[in-house]
Amino acid sequence: MDEIAKTRTHRKAQPGYRWENVELRPYKEDVRALFRSITRQVLFSDPAMHGELRYFDIAPGGFSTLERHEHMHAVVILRGRGQCLVGHAVRDIAPHDLVTVPAWTWHQFRADADAPLGFLCLVNAARDKPQLPTEEELAELKAQPQVAAFLGSVSE
Ligand code: MN
Repeated sequence: MDEIAKTRTHRKAQPGYRWENVELRPYKEDVRALFRSITRQVLFSDPAMHGELRYFDIAPGGFSTLERHEHMHAVVILRGRGQCLVGHAVRDIAPHDLVTVPAWTWHQFRADADAPLGFLCLVNAARDKPQLPTEEELAELKAQPQVAAFLGSVSE
């Protein structure tokens, strides 16, 4: 196997939840979306595949965007500690937990204040653009105290 083929078929893990020849990218390009202290690495993406596997790393106190969309997510926590909101449920998450985000379900991931949160996320390769909540939708979510507490802890 030549060197190029080898780097495509085996990327060695590196310290700090990085992988050989995998670029560290901004979380997302949408400037409207609120998020904090999160990076993205695309681990598997090939036109012959219908899915992509990404690794997201959230620094302590950071969080992903509160959003929903038609495509699903399948998430495996790799490191750290935090909470996730899926629909109206807030859950504590820890390494090796599995989280499924169904279509059109509000979701957000948050790292604890004193720990990072790193997770794999499997997603459709071709996917729709995420929606952000309107004021009304945000108020509806916050009508549940547990959700309000979660969202309160991640807002500005
Ligand atoms: Mn999403």
